[in-house]
Amino acid sequence: MNMNIQTKKEVLEILSMPQEEYLQAIASEAKRIHQDVNRNALIATAMLGFDNVCKNHCLYCGMRAPNKDVKRYRLDPQQVIQAAKTSYEVGFRRIFLISGEDPGYEFDSILSIVEALSEIGFFISLALGALAKVQYGELKAAGAGEYVLKFEMSQREVFNRLKPSSDFDERMRSIGWVKESGLLLASGSIVDYPGQTADQLAEDVLLTRDLGIHWAPVIPYMPAKGTPLALEGGAGSTDLNLKVISILRIMMPGIRITAQQPGKDSQKGLADPEGNLDALGAGADMLFADMLPDALAKNFSVVDNRITLGLEHIRTMAEKSGMSLVFRPDYA
Ligand code: SF4
Repeated sequence: MNMNIQTKKEVLEILSMPQEEYLQAIASEAKRIHQDVNRNALIATAMLGFDNVCKNHCLYCGMRAPNKDVKRYRLDPQQVIQAAKTSYEVGFRRIFLISGEDPGYEFDSILSIVEALSEIGFFISLALGALAKVQYGELKAAGAGEYVLKFEMSQREVFNRLKPSSDFDERMRSIGWVKESGLLLASGSIVDYPGQTADQLAEDVLLTRDLGIHWAPVIPYMPAKGTPLALEGGAGSTDLNLKVISILRIMMPGIRITAQQPGKDSQKGLADPEGNLDALGAGADMLFADMLPDALAKNFSVVDNRITLGLEHIRTMAEKSGMSLVFRPDYA
């Protein structure tokens, strides 16, 4: 079957489909496409949340500036480079560095990290928040390959309410700058946050497609303790999230899609084997091994119940899903 999903109506039809029917008709098609186009690869990426200081106030995020319960830290460049060397030694060839939007971390230090990691031989993805236009070009020149700048929600008024210290129009401009710089763009949304309608979710899916992304870091909403949005509703639907994964795979066969997803029991966090395997079955293809020392991992609290993922977990997921473990595909 050659499935074509293009319009909002077609996306909405799948989002409202009974789960059984979705699994049989849509998830299986998404999986088939991944097998055909991407040789059924499961891509392993090392991940390091090197700085959890953030100036922003996003209503859903545990790392938001007003959250006094989080113990803040910044790893210095030498610590980051050391962690990267260790991950290279165990086999990783892709690395994903994340921080809050922290003006206190010198940009020159970031550039020196990127240069060192590029020299080691990594494909480098970065998520450091919104930057000045010129900085994306500097990161690219230093050796970065990809930049993650999520739009999170595609309606201007919703974005501006849930991200009160950011601005939707500026975010979209910044996303344009990432692409102009020559960096690959990773972007996407939060699925099924409190108050989101199916219509809004469908619009988010279509915007994800229209941006011409290379990786979709989609994730269902997971309430974080002490955040304003946690007072408005509970965890997003993992069933809906699986549908979004499959729709994105069918719309954009060659992209990366995060498989590090929660399962039915959100207490198990993002390393829940059931959640990860369901996502892989829906067409997702990328898992992360957290290189952060255990002592710090609990403070990188974008969501609660974070569990340190290791390479062993990724190997087990590859085995159980029958996928081929790949550290650096030629297409990423
Ligand atoms: S979502 Fe990102 S920008 Fe917003 S508060 Fe959290 S770390 Fe900061």
